[in-house]
Amino acid sequence: MGIVVQKYGGSSVADATGIKRVAQRIVDTKRLGHDVVVVVSAMGDTTDELRDLAEQVTPLPPPRELDMLLTAGERISMALVAMAIAQLGYKAQSFTGSQAGVITTAEHGRAKIIDITPGRIQAAIDDGSIAIVAGFQGVSQDTKDVTTLGRGASDTTAVALAAALKADVCEIYSDVDGVFTADPRVVPTARKLDKVSYEEMLELAASGAKILHLRCVEYARRSNMPVHVRSSFSTKEGTWILPASEDEGTMEQAIISGVAHDRSQAKITVVGVPDKIGEAARIFDALAGAGANIDMVVQNVSAAATGRTDISFTLPREDGQTAMAALAKVESEVGYEKLLFDDQIGKISVVGAGMRSHPGITAKFFAALASEGINIEMISTSEIRISVIVDDVDVERAVQCAHTAFGLDADEVEAVVYGGTGR
Ligand code: ASP
Ligand code: MG
Repeated sequence: MGIVVQKYGGSSVADATGIKRVAQRIVDTKRLGHDVVVVVSAMGDTTDELRDLAEQVTPLPPPRELDMLLTAGERISMALVAMAIAQLGYKAQSFTGSQAGVITTAEHGRAKIIDITPGRIQAAIDDGSIAIVAGFQGVSQDTKDVTTLGRGASDTTAVALAAALKADVCEIYSDVDGVFTADPRVVPTARKLDKVSYEEMLELAASGAKILHLRCVEYARRSNMPVHVRSSFSTKEGTWILPASEDEGTMEQAIISGVAHDRSQAKITVVGVPDKIGEAARIFDALAGAGANIDMVVQNVSAAATGRTDISFTLPREDGQTAMAALAKVESEVGYEKLLFDDQIGKISVVGAGMRSHPGITAKFFAALASEGINIEMISTSEIRISVIVDDVDVERAVQCAHTAFGLDADEVEAVVYGGTGR
């Protein structure tokens, strides 16, 4: 039998009991005859606690040292999981990201994987051991320093390693039974999806569904790695992330796979921009220079009387102040009237490959919002997604009414949230 890569999230290894439970599961997989490689996250909220600790020491921790600190979280879990497996009578060896051959770019806190050279992991497997790898970290090719790959990136480590080892499957274990039609914390009647295509999962992950790291889904799609998202607290079959199936868009397939929401964005409006060629370029050039990651953009028709227009866009809330400062710098150059900043917003997205072949999805979504008295502030779409920005206070009701409108509600509550603090 082939290689199985399993990734256990922070809530699955939150304490000694969790670590022993996970070790038992790993050993059970090994006993079925598989070679097992495990990727672990830091225990519980360790990463947040380490960050808080750093901030108590200095408001601006040097990025190199912050990465050195944060990677310790995953090293704690990997060693403990290896010990727990040894206690069960099986051979296990733990490896840091660097030892596992996770080669990255040099940007601390958001390094990208360039290559994986898993020689030591392969040797451990060949020796009959279970290899335990620290997620979310690697080593920079240029600086040789230890790097982290961004919050939640252990998923990405797991899929990248699975691809490099040519594993049969990458199993992502968390505290929920799989990918749901909406966040079960917001929609208790959300249903577990048995199967989601890579492209739908990409849209869901990019729209705020927190179950999988976006880059992990990109990696899975590129390498055609089947991903099985499931709970470490139950043995239920979870959700399979796979290539789009043939029956997509037919009667058997739901038109909408899910409703995602994202509360991490803010909206900036540049008011009274002269309606001239090159103004938008100047504005977005300034934003790009500040490293702001722009999501939705809306430009109004200019008012005939003034020849001016408003441009609004959304971006991650943490980029908000940098972006405002960058825009303030080009005020005279662009000649806009003023800037507005709003972080009391949320984004709701409905995602489904079936919308390609079914007209009227947009109308149905907007009618559902209207019947709840929810005002739409911005709209954007892709081929298989419709997203709207609404006021922060309307987010939960918007998710719930869209979920109902598209017939996604389960008859009885299926979703169990087993652990985690949702932090
Ligand atoms: N421990 C890291 C974090 O909390 C990585 C992960 O959990 O995937 O972001
Ligand atoms: Mg975590």
